[in-house]
Amino acid sequence: MSSEVTVTVNGESRAVPHGSNVREVLKHIPGRDLVAARVNGKVVDLTRKLEQDAVVEPILIDSPEGLDVIRHSTAHLMAMAVQQLYPGTQVTIGPVIEDGFFYDFAPKTPFTLEDLPKIEAKMRELAKADLKIERVEVAREDAIRQFTEMGEGYKVEIIQGIPDDTVSIYREGDWMDLCRGPHVPSTRYLKAFKLTSVAGAYWRGDEHNAMLSRIYGTAFATKEALDEHLKLIELARLRDHRKLGREMGLYIFDPISPGSPFYLPKGTIILNELTDYMRRLYRRYGYDEVVTPQVFKNELWHTSGHWENFRENMFISPDPEGEMTSVDTGPEGWHHGYALKPMNCPGHTFVYRAEKRSYRDLPLRIAEFSRLHRAERSGTLHGLMRVRSMAQDDAHIFCREDQIEDEVAMNLQMVRDVYGALGFERVEFKLATMPEQHLGTEEQWRMTEAQLGNAMSRNEIAYEINPKEGAFYGPKIEIYVSDALKRRWQVATIQLDYNNPERFDLTYINSAGVAERPVMIHRAILGSLERFIGVLIEHTGGVLPFWLAPEQVRVLSLSEKVEDYAKEIAELLKREGYRAHSDIRNEKLGFKVREAELAKVPYMIVVGEREAADRSVSLRLLRGEKSNAMPLANLVELLKKEPIPA
Ligand code: ZN
Repeated sequence: MSSEVTVTVNGESRAVPHGSNVREVLKHIPGRDLVAARVNGKVVDLTRKLEQDAVVEPILIDSPEGLDVIRHSTAHLMAMAVQQLYPGTQVTIGPVIEDGFFYDFAPKTPFTLEDLPKIEAKMRELAKADLKIERVEVAREDAIRQFTEMGEGYKVEIIQGIPDDTVSIYREGDWMDLCRGPHVPSTRYLKAFKLTSVAGAYWRGDEHNAMLSRIYGTAFATKEALDEHLKLIELARLRDHRKLGREMGLYIFDPISPGSPFYLPKGTIILNELTDYMRRLYRRYGYDEVVTPQVFKNELWHTSGHWENFRENMFISPDPEGEMTSVDTGPEGWHHGYALKPMNCPGHTFVYRAEKRSYRDLPLRIAEFSRLHRAERSGTLHGLMRVRSMAQDDAHIFCREDQIEDEVAMNLQMVRDVYGALGFERVEFKLATMPEQHLGTEEQWRMTEAQLGNAMSRNEIAYEINPKEGAFYGPKIEIYVSDALKRRWQVATIQLDYNNPERFDLTYINSAGVAERPVMIHRAILGSLERFIGVLIEHTGGVLPFWLAPEQVRVLSLSEKVEDYAKEIAELLKREGYRAHSDIRNEKLGFKVREAELAKVPYMIVVGEREAADRSVSLRLLRGEKSNAMPLANLVELLKKEPIPA
């Protein structure tokens, strides 16, 4: 064996002694900046010895991969601290997630928020102790024996599921954990972390299994980056749409219908304004709106494939005219009865089939705002973000293959109109391509993927590829927005579908008089209106654009003497089409202002005796600005300048 190996760093090759470790090879990078490395494409520890020629790339602490290493190592540090503080607690798994990590424990009593400061203090102590973190490869059977002796039943179960002969264990001082790694070389690398919350979680995510205790935390390269992140979390807490929704009187939730919002009058205004906005766009872009049934026979879901693939998420009911108890599995395995629609697509194929279609009729653009119901697990429900009852700005386009590109390009234009009007500055596009399991030939896929790509290029949209993430029946464009709290949401999608036209036997007569299959495009721009409203409220902190504000103007009287004048202004504004109210209660102005601010009313009008005498108003904006008294007519002119997207 040669006593030297060739390493290539930054495109430069050199010989180093056989068995040198990665840290030595990358010693030009100072101290804590380097947390791991990629060796011939594989992410490894800095202590990894180089036994063969290798391309070595550093992983720096503030890179996305570096942050993952830091967070994973911090999860281990937390597990070590927990086991020192709470003997008898078993460890299970501790993965990295977006923005942080968690670790699931089986403790004697579930952890609460009160435990976190103590655990954090212990973690800081262990980090300061600069414990070496070492990787050891052990035989699988030895690992099983060791973890059994330690009473770590969950780890034993995990190892038993690993097919390899050896497993890797990481030692950290006198503590150890089963792990694939990589990890930072020592605990002193972990300097900026915070434990954020606790939750219950089931072992392997299965509700039939034991309930575990999960601790969430996060870690960053620097204290500054951590603080910035914690500030955003705090802001998100203050802006939580469930909290703001209550304060603004928009919607409530009740256990009588879990996961289904009750829109109060003010919340209904937001929902209706958004749908009206979409309707205005539909008129402009040539869409037709339809209303199809809420409940369909299961036969439909069998044809669409939902029965096979989505049944767990559907509300299914027996046939009211049939035997309530009878379950007919039928020859093809579906039950007679009915189900609430979770999606509009299958129903729209009947709208398509309502008439004979020719190539001249296409594209046909069909939109629907009906409510949809999905039987989401109760544990996953979360305010408006995860619901059982929702509506979408849903539409299906039935078109010829040669029309795909134009249709997609037009919808991308709509996406831009909408997100521009709603104040989301950052919109990102991804093209999800052919997955392993797919219908049709690779050639067809490359052609349709190219059409989607061209449609984006025509709109000068830079996009990323999301490889193999298309649905099995066609490629799609996924559209994401970032909110003011730097969180990314997938909102819109444009999905090509060759499957449903086949399943529902849709045809049109082409120019040669022959029947052909149309292509179906599923697309939503706001997506679920519920989730979109939730995102919008957190993005704006409840300070909605004027046209969406449930209450646009509130007239505050300074005294009883100007009651009539205050009422008169509100009436006048209502006649002009604004959502205006007067607050003529016998309360201090400061109190009335605070209440209007809490309700996020953009325009507050203050009237006292002086204003009543010369028929003027004083203006106070939610944004904090005040103006001198102005004639009433000027106020109306000012309101007319507020933009309403058309
Ligand atoms: Zn659809």
